[in-house]
Amino acid sequence: MEEHEHDLVIIGSGPGGYVAAIRAAQLGLDTACVEKEPALGGTCLRDGCIPTKALLEASERYEETKHGLAAFGVTVEGVGFDLGAMLQHKDNIVTALTGGVAGLFKKNKITRYRGHGRLEGPGSVIVESEGGADEAGNTETVVKLLAKHVILATGSEVATLPGVEMDWDRIGSSTEALSYPEVPEHLVVIGAGYIGLELGSVWARLGAKVTVLEYLDRILPGMDADTAKRARQIFKKQGIEFRLGTRVTGARVVVGEGCVVEAEGMEPIECDRVLVAVGRRPYTNDLGLASVGVELDERGRIPVDEHFQTSAAGVYALGDVIAGPMLAHKAEHEGVACAEFLATGFGHVNYDAIPGIVYTHPEIATVGKSEEQLKEAGIKYRKGKFPFSANGRAKALNQTEGQVKVLADAETDRVLGVHIIGPRAGDLIAEAAVAIEFGASSEDIARSVHAHPTLAEALKEAALAVDKRTINF
Ligand code: NAD
Repeated sequence: MEEHEHDLVIIGSGPGGYVAAIRAAQLGLDTACVEKEPALGGTCLRDGCIPTKALLEASERYEETKHGLAAFGVTVEGVGFDLGAMLQHKDNIVTALTGGVAGLFKKNKITRYRGHGRLEGPGSVIVESEGGADEAGNTETVVKLLAKHVILATGSEVATLPGVEMDWDRIGSSTEALSYPEVPEHLVVIGAGYIGLELGSVWARLGAKVTVLEYLDRILPGMDADTAKRARQIFKKQGIEFRLGTRVTGARVVVGEGCVVEAEGMEPIECDRVLVAVGRRPYTNDLGLASVGVELDERGRIPVDEHFQTSAAGVYALGDVIAGPMLAHKAEHEGVACAEFLATGFGHVNYDAIPGIVYTHPEIATVGKSEEQLKEAGIKYRKGKFPFSANGRAKALNQTEGQVKVLADAETDRVLGVHIIGPRAGDLIAEAAVAIEFGASSEDIARSVHAHPTLAEALKEAALAVDKRTINF
């Protein structure tokens, strides 16, 4: 068996793994990355964040052209869409970006191994490749990699539900929902989280009847409740039907091209496609964890300390396989911090300042603590709200739905949480994340000059509202 030695071997090339690889290489470590799929970039680039955003953008353009332009005095006739071209637009972006990661690996002299990576004792990783050729053209190889440090960044996989018979076509996950060959007449989405709302929005805009079944009595669990409630009202107006407090007990494909979904206390629903979006679970299949004595926690995650070190010396883990929100940018920052720790002895992620964004229309973005979390922790806070209906730029965009909410410590005025629903909320939240990272007060945001007329002024006004001194509302 061939053997190669590196300073660092990373298993997985998603946002956690590939970013850790680049940062480690920048810091002088001889770095290798093992990936079993032909394309680098993980779920985020291949069948997650990036393709979803491509379809959200395309469907939003269609929706706006059809229904939104008249308000601006723009008349268009015969508006239609070509689903094939929309899917191609998405695929082109995925190809460009995954190819971009391969280019970054070359630029940073990171060695890529194609195949399934498995630990075989401390400091040793076996790579088995079947079917696909690696860079040297080998089609079936077993290679042994030796390294002082190994990072596990294998991400997550779709969680399924008992009784829901996935055929990974009619009843499938987000991966299938990114490539339906025709617009479903009736799409049933199970789960009103990030994926359910984003992909539900895509197909609703393109003409599908969308019914979202959610187990809890609210959508977007974990997000600020008041913001999530406003979001539900807006999505309802857009034609998405929500059935909350609904526990799905089964789903199956029936003869012909249909499906049936069953839930407690509800007549079975017939539909032509089902999207199962009830969360993701850490992907640790056949990773050889037992060979280094690492045991998973009760939720199937790899336990790590504050430096991402597992119970095995020299073995680290980050991203979706460890605790915390399953978000690409959380994994990226952990990748940077872990690489820096390995190379310099220092590396840190501030978990209080990780934004979360739902890329619906309008977008929903949040960073820091929700009101519920602050109440539960017994922290006294002051609240400032500002509606986009009072923001000049939002009016010009004809996108006045939503609001910004700033939560600040009642004694120190330090910003503890910011929750936005409205136009470009996902971009606006960056300022709030920086404010929290720098320990800013709401007064700091309020006194920083925000250009006029911009959507960002709504954040400044919400910060002023904490002290009850908004100017424009
Ligand atoms: P999620 O955790 O966001 O939402 C899952 C939803 O399913 C929850 O509302 C939950 O209450 C509900 N649910 C669970 N069991 C159910 C049942 N039996 N019947 C009905 N509802 C049920 O998960 P997701 O939307 O599948 O997304 C998976 C992961 O991917 C998330 O962790 C998310 O962070 C990530 N993601 C992020 C983005 C983004 O950042 N924009 C986009 C997509 C996915």
